[in-house]
Amino acid sequence: MAKVVLVTGGSRGIGAAACRLAARDGWDVAVNFGREREAAEAIVAEVRAAGRRAVALQADVRDEEAVLRLFDQTEEALGPISGLVNSAGITGRISKLMDAPAEEMRRTLEINVMGTLLCCREAVRRMARSRGGTGGSIVNLSSRAADLGSPNEFVWYAASKGAIDSLTIGLAREAGPEGIRVNAVAPGLILTDIHASAGDAGRVERLTPAVPLGRPGTAEESAEPIVWLLSEAASYVSGTVVDVGAGR
Ligand code: NAP
Repeated sequence: MAKVVLVTGGSRGIGAAACRLAARDGWDVAVNFGREREAAEAIVAEVRAAGRRAVALQADVRDEEAVLRLFDQTEEALGPISGLVNSAGITGRISKLMDAPAEEMRRTLEINVMGTLLCCREAVRRMARSRGGTGGSIVNLSSRAADLGSPNEFVWYAASKGAIDSLTIGLAREAGPEGIRVNAVAPGLILTDIHASAGDAGRVERLTPAVPLGRPGTAEESAEPIVWLLSEAASYVSGTVVDVGAGR
């Protein structure tokens, strides 16, 4: 049977790397994007060049209607899904909590938490054996921030990733009997655009001395455990959070 995975936030960063590595591992890939259609189309071209099918699909993961449409369009284009990677996420702009605008915190929680919940719900509805599905694997993007707390930067973001850890454990227990594994990957300091988007392009350089391995990670280094968790090689792994923080 064809392996079909939907990657939210597949247009850039860790999600884009997950799309590439999933194609390498034989998955057909639905590349979701929020705003960057060109970036998503470039990833689609790379997946096709690797010999797999791919489609770029716009959807704001905060929007329930858009999420339902995203899953419908994925299955119309590629067939039933058995993989979901929830990589769409933001930090909000760096500040102390006492200076953080409510709208910034709300947007972060809506994308990171509600977006992941909506996509997980839709995936489980389609993968669940009790609803005619054949099971599957879900990988959520947590962060080392869930444990570190991100003081003076974005504690609301850290809180959103704590929520990811809890929902990963809960859903793994709820959906296990449906043949669905649910795990999370918690990257540390990874070289993507997310730091510049947070308003501090020098963040990686500033924090690198705190990383025991002495360097930031690449998006591919975060995506390798993601595609491993998607795969049958991880068939007895569920309800866990894999730290990819180089010891930090
Ligand atoms: P990134 O390079 O900034 O990419 C973010 C991705 O999320 C983009 O593809 C973007 O799509 C998408 N996105 C944002 N808002 C969206 C929305 N409302 N609906 C749909 N897609 C949306 O970020 P990244 O570093 O790869 O981060 C990916 C995930 O890893 C996030 O959940 C992040 O919290 C987590 N993480 C990252 C790090 C790190 O150091 N980089 C560390 C720990 C955890 P468009 O560009 O098309 O809008």
